[in-house]
Amino acid sequence: MRLDPTRLRLLPRGRYLLVVDRRSGRWLSLAAEEEPFLRLLAADGLAPVPAEVRARVERLRRLLVDGKVGVDEPGPAFDRLNTLILKLTNACNLACSYCYDFEKVEHARVIDEETAQRAIAQALELCPERLWVILHGGEPMLVWELVERIVLRGEAEARAQGKAISFSGQTNMTRLDGRIAGFSLDHDILWGLSIDGPAPVNDALRVGHGGGGSHALFAECLRRFPRFVRSCGVLSTITALNQESLLATARHFRDLGMASWDWSLFQPIGRGRDLAGRLQLDARALGRGWEALFAAVEGGEFSGFPVKPVTKYLDNFLRGPGHNMCMRARCGAGRDLLSVSADGTIEACDCIDPVGPLGGLGHMAGGSLASARAAPLAERIRSRDMDRNDPCADCIWFALCGGTCLAHAGDIDALWPEACAMAQLAFDRISLSLAGSDALIDYAGSLR
Ligand code: SF4
Ligand code: SF4
Ligand code: SF4
Repeated sequence: MRLDPTRLRLLPRGRYLLVVDRRSGRWLSLAAEEEPFLRLLAADGLAPVPAEVRARVERLRRLLVDGKVGVDEPGPAFDRLNTLILKLTNACNLACSYCYDFEKVEHARVIDEETAQRAIAQALELCPERLWVILHGGEPMLVWELVERIVLRGEAEARAQGKAISFSGQTNMTRLDGRIAGFSLDHDILWGLSIDGPAPVNDALRVGHGGGGSHALFAECLRRFPRFVRSCGVLSTITALNQESLLATARHFRDLGMASWDWSLFQPIGRGRDLAGRLQLDARALGRGWEALFAAVEGGEFSGFPVKPVTKYLDNFLRGPGHNMCMRARCGAGRDLLSVSADGTIEACDCIDPVGPLGGLGHMAGGSLASARAAPLAERIRSRDMDRNDPCADCIWFALCGGTCLAHAGDIDALWPEACAMAQLAFDRISLSLAGSDALIDYAGSLR
């Protein structure tokens, strides 16, 4: 294998030097004094240098090639569909102020059942082995009988096609009852629970149609179905109101006994469009909030509890990019992911603004997932490559970050500045921490 030194970026980390392959995300940590010899790797021919220097440079070259840093190595391909988001309804019993699923042009509707079944059958045909179906809304539990029929038919279709299928979903959980819990357990449906924190935090924005807070509904669910609710991971929306309270929020959900805590960063589309001025994130304030959270994770406070605003960066750093479809150079949108809206519109990803320039790949009526995936707009979305744009073009973290979410960025060559600042901060702190201690390795190990 031939080493390409132009792919390498060096970052001093105390006594160590981090050597990152910005194309693959693979890295090595070397003694800081190796830096001048590493720089010689890029020199054309080493004839004028002494033999012992040549030998040292050659040893570094072998070390990098053996570690597959700076060399072409076929990585995992993401060119087949494996994830389908089904937006079952755009109705919701809540009216959260930032809800990105609500557009003024829409009227509440439920997906046509035959359309949903057809979408799953088509997605199974397109996927290599296993299809992940994400049940989404609005609030999917409002149409529970439909969920059961879709899951049962989807499982039967997967058996008929000789493929595997798994269901998960995102819910506010306020309509949970014994039937929903029982069916979900029987069919291994993994639910993520949307809630923002204790009542004063949550109720600032997660409100009902009358404007009252929704936390009491969650508390009642937790009281009635404690084991089921606690088996779910929590997803909190982060806005300008709670961006500096990340640590308190993570502690709250850990202490409640929830399975994990994750964040979703505010996106000014849907109902949030009108509140962008009040809710827009501030990169520096968010960074302060994240640093406090990170320090607590590093200090061992969250051992055994997945704090996903940290683990998403840590996992990519330790395992390399790929498994997280939003943090790699070629994200899932229109590639391994498609989304079908309640009205049958096919989107590359449900985070893409449906009324923006990247919205609407096709429609299930008169179209198919395959034709939507082959549409010129889908090709345009898949053509996103931030490696050709500043500041990503020379960023050490490019492979591990991917250049931020195009849905938040708004267009193919655009960047989401708050997420860029966040990624730079996170990878800097993580690499510094790993150079100085095993604390993050121990934390990652505690989550297995
Ligand atoms: S954010 Fe979720 S729970 Fe809130 S209104 Fe939107 S769909 Fe409903
Ligand atoms: S978005 Fe920012 S952190 Fe990510 S690759 Fe681009 S410059 Fe680097
Ligand atoms: S558009 Fe954004 S949310 Fe959707 S898959 Fe790509 S990075 Fe992820």
